[in-house]
Amino acid sequence: MGYAEYDIRLSVREDDAALRRAVAKAGNLGEFSMRIVRKSLDARRKGDVRWQYRVGVLSPELAGGEDPFLPPPEPEFRRREERAVVVGSGPAGIFAADWLSRAGFKVTVLERGSRVDARRAAIEAFEAGGPFPAADNYAFGEGGAGTFSDGKLSSRTKGISRERDCIFARFVEAGAPEEIRYMTHPHLGSDNLFGMTGAMRAALEARGVTFLFNSPVTGLASRDGRVTGVETPAGVLEAERFLFACGHSATETWRMLMRAGVAFRPKNFALGFRAEHLQETVNLAQWGAASLPGVKAAEYRLTHQAADGTGVYSFCMCPGGTVVPAMAYPGTNLVNGKSDYARAGRHANAAVVAGLSLRSLLGRELDALESIEWLEALERSFHDFAGGYRAPAMTIADFLAGGSGSALPESSHPLGLVPADLAELAPAGIVAPLREGLAAFCRTLKGYGEGLLLGLESKTSAPIQVLRSDGGLATGFSNLWIAGEGSGWSGGIVSSAADGLKAAMSVEASA
Ligand SMILES: Cc1cc2nc3c(=O)[nH]c(=O)nc-3n(C[C@H](O)[C@H](O)[C@H](O)COP(=O)(O)OP(=O)(O)OC[C@H]3O[C@@H](n4cnc5c(N)ncnc54)[C@H](O)[C@@H]3O)c2cc1C
Repeated sequence: MGYAEYDIRLSVREDDAALRRAVAKAGNLGEFSMRIVRKSLDARRKGDVRWQYRVGVLSPELAGGEDPFLPPPEPEFRRREERAVVVGSGPAGIFAADWLSRAGFKVTVLERGSRVDARRAAIEAFEAGGPFPAADNYAFGEGGAGTFSDGKLSSRTKGISRERDCIFARFVEAGAPEEIRYMTHPHLGSDNLFGMTGAMRAALEARGVTFLFNSPVTGLASRDGRVTGVETPAGVLEAERFLFACGHSATETWRMLMRAGVAFRPKNFALGFRAEHLQETVNLAQWGAASLPGVKAAEYRLTHQAADGTGVYSFCMCPGGTVVPAMAYPGTNLVNGKSDYARAGRHANAAVVAGLSLRSLLGRELDALESIEWLEALERSFHDFAGGYRAPAMTIADFLAGGSGSALPESSHPLGLVPADLAELAPAGIVAPLREGLAAFCRTLKGYGEGLLLGLESKTSAPIQVLRSDGGLATGFSNLWIAGEGSGWSGGIVSSAADGLKAAMSVEASA
């Protein structure tokens, strides 16, 4: 049996049978089995958009070659007495808990919010006009920050291919579509993520993992750099190893860790707005057609370097999605985006942000705590301006012209908009680069200037970073690992899950 790979291009109108026929022709093969290795959309020629495939083929008619497919890595199971406490049930926490339980640890996951179904109900009640749900919102609750998201699984993090195989295998076991293994821009959608979150928890519980919901960790007990227990509403939970994966919205958890002696430093991050357009505008710009058979909604990724060197870029695009009020705490106001797997909504949204260093922006050195406070004050100022949780918004055209007051186009934001001059609300130092970047995006993507800007987009990545070893062991501690986006060393679902896995492997190696 030999193995070979073939690159095939097909019109978006052709089906799976056409792919098999094309492979047979490319390899001159009669008997073979095939697996898609990679699939991407080639939209460079408008009016002739094609799927580009790389297909792996096993056939007795082929000589030589070896199927490169490897099963995902697994820890070596040993029955152990050591207890491991994982704080946070987002991607970093859940993949860490999964690895540790497979390695034989007695694992407890502590999650400050509720199970995913109660969490969804709390968000729906808020968006129907209820009070802000402090315990369960787009940031907190089972599944973590990305549970109600587009579920994009692309990541530019280097050196995580082993972890990625593991993550994608577990996602598929939990109900993700098989195509995430080979699409160049894989995504899950909120509707898939909702079911997968419960399925992953059930699989872990079946392996003996204990989940404690509505259990915020409020303190650490430690002696001589060794953590002995974590404080929860039910009392102190003792264990031998502790892994924090609290995400980058849990500012009071960061403060608690700092009080307990965990060292953080400030880091650069990005700030800006969320741009929203009609999806049809993006489809026309990217494909030259309002829709294509068998293809969901068009995406874009835009970048620009401003004259002062600031990087301005689009981020976390949600084709066919909605803008969501994604604050973690009452009295703050910020936005993010989500979409369902079908990406069939009327709107497209994506962050448009400028990279920033608080030291350059403010002209003085801030420590980690001051950095958090600065960002919280900005999120509160958007809330105070809006008088609540509606999104301050203006047209892209007004932002570029330095004015405000034009009628706002329709938006998917569930709570509605408050007309605003975002150039007045945003820190002065990011306005000029954002203007420059947006002007460049208007030149690149036809119709971009017809869109809307909603503020504030402040959660692209953490403003601080923990001091830790490569495996995530917090500096000065012998049994405390800090992983995921809350560590400041990862960003996004896949890179945070990979960071959690790496930390779990480091925990395993320490036992
Ligand atoms: C609306 C939205 C859309 C997004 N879309 C995408 C996307 O499409 N693709 C992508 O790659 N990324 C996306 N992201 C970002 C992505 O969700 C995060 O990068 C990722 O979830 C980080 O994983 P994490 O496990 O490190 O932290 P989180 O997912 O933030 O999980 C941390 C968990 O810890 C819990 N917690 C915090 N403090 C405590 C405590 N003291 N005690 C107990 N529990 C605690 C929280 O409740 C939370 O469940 C999106 C984020 C949002 C908010």
